[in-house]
Formats: sequence, structure tokens, C-alpha cells
Amino acid sequence: MHKVLEHGQYIMGPEVRELEQKLEAYTGAKHCITVASGTEALLISLMAMGIQPGDEVITTPFTFVATAEVIVLLGAKPVFVDIQPDTCNIDPTKIEAAITPRTKAIMPVSLYGQPADMDEINAIADRHNLIVIEDAAQSFGAEYKGRKSCNLSHIGCTSFFPSKPLGCYGDGGAIFTSDDAIAQACREIRVHGQSSVCPHPDRRWRADGHHSVRGRAGQAGAFRVGSSAADRDWERIQRSSRCKGVKRVVQREDRTSVFAQFTVLLDDREAMQAKFADCKFRPRFITPSPQRTARLQASAARIALISKETAKRVMSLPMGPDLTVESQKTVTLLLA
Ligand SMILES: *Cc1c(COP(=O)(O)O)cnc(C)c1O
Repeated sequence: MHKVLEHGQYIMGPEVRELEQKLEAYTGAKHCITVASGTEALLISLMAMGIQPGDEVITTPFTFVATAEVIVLLGAKPVFVDIQPDTCNIDPTKIEAAITPRTKAIMPVSLYGQPADMDEINAIADRHNLIVIEDAAQSFGAEYKGRKSCNLSHIGCTSFFPSKPLGCYGDGGAIFTSDDAIAQACREIRVHGQSSVCPHPDRRWRADGHHSVRGRAGQAGAFRVGSSAADRDWERIQRSSRCKGVKRVVQREDRTSVFAQFTVLLDDREAMQAKFADCKFRPRFITPSPQRTARLQASAARIALISKETAKRVMSLPMGPDLTVESQKTVTLLLA
């Protein structure tokens, strides 16, 4: 931080490229483009692919509001596909029925730290000539069949919000891709670029040149010490997470989770919530996107029933490298 204050290159300084190179090496993606937040990473990705009013983007209703928000911001329509009740991630067997001639992209979310069924999703996208953007805001560091989250589809977007698996001091985010043209389009948009580059002329998408998103990547350089996903003791987290009578979000065998949050499924959540009333740990809940705002609701063509029901049962507990053994015990006792 002192070095940055010394040279004064606060925006797009040398540390930004240095960080991007480290993240490229870590994820295996050819390009990393750091931006001001996870939300902007998603927004810039959609802009780079030329998403515009009238287009449809398939996504999950079971996520943080930003996922659907960026689609709506561009005037496009989020089409919600229901989730798997055990992993809480989008159910790929339900995606194809939601595809229309206006569908341009699929945006799965790797929720709570675990990647979605990316192979199945990528195969569907290939068949229908769609782009896949992984919302990996909660899953930086997770692996899927030996590959890193953020590098599992055309584009991966992550967030460096302080509470995310790789948190920084402030807001920050990054876009990952191994496609040169997409990377070029994202880099141009980051600096208000007049992009005339069309990443995939054969696919009707276009980057149309009027960009208003600012790149403020400089701040992404200051990361929370010790919060590196690679440093976490995953074995210990796994062991400490067996409480009788409480179901965990299921983790598939071919992938890992970085536990952005520690989420449990409860039959009687109200009773459990009451137990946590006097505890300093504030459990977190989820509101499926269609239930959030009138605008998102209006565009939810299909009713995501599993998502609605699961939202009443989930409870997310704090999870992070700074969680002490003492705190773990407190939470475990309340759950048991
Ligand atoms: C946090 C989050 C975002 C947004 O990231 P910000 O850096 O806060 O803008 C998007 N999607 C999901 C799933 C998230 O958890």
C-alpha cells in the first residue's frame, strides 16, 4: 500500500497487472481483467458479449441479487431455471426447456463456494450456440474435475468483496477468459473503450461502443492478509461440519467447495433462528431473485418452486479463515 502511495498510480498501476498475472497462473485462465467489483465483472462480461434489450439470459433464481440485476440493467430479461434441492445450484436438466430464439447466454452461479454442473451446462450452450458466464463470486479457489472455478466456461467472474473467499480491502472483482477477443472487449470496456471489436461476428453478438462502466481496478491490489483460498484448512472445515439432525448443502465428489458461507438445510428453521437470537453470529438467508422486486418478478417466466421452498429452509453461517475454534464450538453447540 505504501508503494502505491509513493508512485501515485492509483488507477491501473503496475500492481494491477501483477495481480492479474498471479490470478491467471492460479486459475489457469489465459486472461484476467480486474475491475471495480464482482457486479461490474458480470456487467462488463454481458456488455462484451453485446447483450441488449430483448435478449434473454438464463440464470438461477437462488443467488445474490447482483446476478439478475446486471441482466436487467442492460434491458435484457433474466429467465430463471430452478435449482437442484441438494446443492442449491442451477439444475442443468431444466435449462434446455427455457431456451428460446432470444436466449444469448447462460449464467450459472457457483453458490456457497461450489461450482455448478459446468460440463452439462457447457454442452447445452455448445448445442445452442450460447455463451456461458460463471458467476464465481463465491467460489474463487474451488475445483471442478481438477480445474479451477473461474476457468470452467467462456467467461468466469469473481468478487473480492471483503467477505468473499478471496477478500480485499474494499470492493474489487475480476473477469477470467481464455478467449482473446472476449478479453480484448472486456479490457476496452473497463477503460470506457470505444470498442469496435466484435468478439464473435458469426454469433450475432456485438460490442456496440457506447460504454459507461468505469474500471477502478487499482484498489484490487490490497488483499486481506491470510485470506488466500489456497491457505485454508479445508479438511478441518469438512470435519467440523457434521452436526446431527442438520443437513448440509451436498457437495459433489468431483468438485470442491471453498465454503463462502457454511449453509445448512433445516426442517424447522424458525426454531433454529430463535436459538441464534442471542449469538454474535448472525445467520444469513436468501431471497430468490423473482421474489425480490416487481421488475425481476415480472420477467420471471417460470415459477421456480424448488428454489422457493429451499429458501425457507436454508441458513448460512459465517465462514472464514479468521473463524476461531472457540467460535466454531459455539455454532456447533447451537446447531446440535
Ligand atoms: C457477492 C456476489 C456478487 C457481487 O459481487 P460484488 O463484488 O459485491 O459486486 C455477485 N454474485 C454473487 C453470487 C455474489 O455472491
